[in-house]
Amino acid sequence: MNPIKILLIGNGGVGKKSVIEQFCYSHFIEEYDPTIEDIYRKQIEIDDEILIIEILDYYYYDDWNDYYKRGNYEKTDGFIVVYSMNDKYSFNELENYLKEIYKFKKTDDFPIIIIGNKNDLEDQRVITKEEGEEFAIKYFCPFFETSAKTRYNIDETIFTLLREIRKY
Ligand code: GDP
Ligand code: MG
Repeated sequence: MNPIKILLIGNGGVGKKSVIEQFCYSHFIEEYDPTIEDIYRKQIEIDDEILIIEILDYYYYDDWNDYYKRGNYEKTDGFIVVYSMNDKYSFNELENYLKEIYKFKKTDDFPIIIIGNKNDLEDQRVITKEEGEEFAIKYFCPFFETSAKTRYNIDETIFTLLREIRKY
């Protein structure tokens, strides 16, 4: 069975690794290790079907070509583009990530989910849920606020992306 490849992209520190760890192992790590790059594999059941998914967490070093090569990006079936709701800069960068995906995929019709992570940090919020939703609507992408800490909407994100991927 060919694994379904999912790539998380977004600025450093928004919680990409934490979202993956929470989904795959149901745990949350407080420490931040910016250097680790990993591939996670998990077998899951969705709508009575067994799938193997491979989730890639690659650090982005400002060089998309390098990222592209290391991430084996061409074979990616779907993307999760992540910002953090307490980091305006990460939100402002979303558009650039989407444009890069469109450029490399040569289409703007591709399974992409946008998530606003760290939803548990309500007192640090600088991006409203409505701003996230409006952005996602503009790009025709499903949107969730998530928390890798509390596991809020983590399964929903992955399962929604898998259902999007199956439509293609
Ligand atoms: P990455 O650089 O995008 O892979 O980010 P990490 O997953 O390494 O997370 C960066 C930091 O943010 C770590 O200290 C995490 O513990 C923390 N973090 C990640 N997700 C959440 C979240 O949903 N809530 C809170 N409170 N902290 C988070
Ligand atoms: Mg990371």
